[in-house]
Amino acid sequence: MKILVINAGSSSRKYQLFDLPDGGVLTAGLVERIGEASSRVNHTVFRNGESHKITRDLPLKDHRAGLQQVAELLMDAEVGVIADAAEIDAVGHRVVHGGEQFSQTTVITPDVKFAIERLSPFAPLHNPPNLQGITVAEEVFPDAVQVAVFDTAFHQTMPPHAYRYAIPNEFYDEHGIRVYGFHGTSHLYVSRRAAEMLGKSPAETNVITAHLGNGASMAAVAGGRSIDTSMGFTPLPGLMMGSRCGDLDPAVVYYLGTKLGKSFDEIDRILNKQSGLIGITGVNDLRDIESRAAAGDAQAELALEMYAYRIKKYIGAYAAALGRVDALVFTAGVGENSDTIRARACAGLENLGFRLDAAKNAGRKKTATAIHAEGSPVKIFVIPTNEELEIARQAYEVVGR
Ligand code: AMP
Repeated sequence: MKILVINAGSSSRKYQLFDLPDGGVLTAGLVERIGEASSRVNHTVFRNGESHKITRDLPLKDHRAGLQQVAELLMDAEVGVIADAAEIDAVGHRVVHGGEQFSQTTVITPDVKFAIERLSPFAPLHNPPNLQGITVAEEVFPDAVQVAVFDTAFHQTMPPHAYRYAIPNEFYDEHGIRVYGFHGTSHLYVSRRAAEMLGKSPAETNVITAHLGNGASMAAVAGGRSIDTSMGFTPLPGLMMGSRCGDLDPAVVYYLGTKLGKSFDEIDRILNKQSGLIGITGVNDLRDIESRAAAGDAQAELALEMYAYRIKKYIGAYAAALGRVDALVFTAGVGENSDTIRARACAGLENLGFRLDAAKNAGRKKTATAIHAEGSPVKIFVIPTNEELEIARQAYEVVGR
């Protein structure tokens, strides 16, 4: 079955074409700067263990033109992997917010599109382009089943004591203000892989997952189900991130507004775009911060310690929530690549059962790797995430049913 996965942002589209169950990924690409004078399509074809990259610079006036260009590349006489658009059986769409309505991957109907639109105030930067991606895909691939995979869905198994905020009931009852959590597809994918690496089924495995990318979140996964996660009503709370503040006393917002005269829009920008690693060091790429810290920069050193300390606190919290932890997983840009952050986050947790092996931890990990010391009660893994593959698998399951 040929499944196209689309991750639609405001001015870019990421896509991958899979041949499931056995064929793996056929092509992957990115359409950027849609609507600008010169847009760019980066398209990579994977064949016989080799990859072939094609770059096209051309004006693409809108997302429809962008996806049509992708369809042309997929059917290209020279580099194409399909002969006809009708060969695409399903299109799997990443949709950021599914609210309480969507706890499962769902075949898209007019009602589902309406619900995604209705949830847009919860994710104003994401749900509208996600919806637009669906509408355009329906036009360009009319024969394919369109499937929505929600970032929030995996966390819908959280119990009320984890997802409720201790604020008056009406804000939940009437306005849906609660913890939703994000990165669900990634937490699901790596927690299942961890169970596989332990030789157990997900149902009998308790895992703490740390998705540390530009956005970062952790989850406590008990028997294959998310029971808590560090992001919340929005992707702002929890860990310290590239430019987001993570956990913060909400009274700081009041203070910024009333004492410092900041508007709500300014506060939103400060906490989402100017905080986290940027707020402390001026840059958001951990690689730069690590080299600055190594050269003796005190602010960079502080940022690394703050970043790792937050992770450590959540490891402790989720160990308490789970009762028994079988594995801790690091994933995404920082989790897969930074041995410094992994080492700092686990330092001091030996008595809780998390024992890292410094030699196994060293370096970047391109494949799933065990990094715990022999005899460590909790196994520690680095597992490269693959959200696109997980979306394709879920679409495959839904369409194959
Ligand atoms: P992601 O959002 O998963 O693509 O992660 C992006 C982030 O991963 C970047 O902003 C970097 O901070 C971090 N990152 C990527 N490569 C490395 C590396 N080799 N060492 C440390 N951090 C890295």
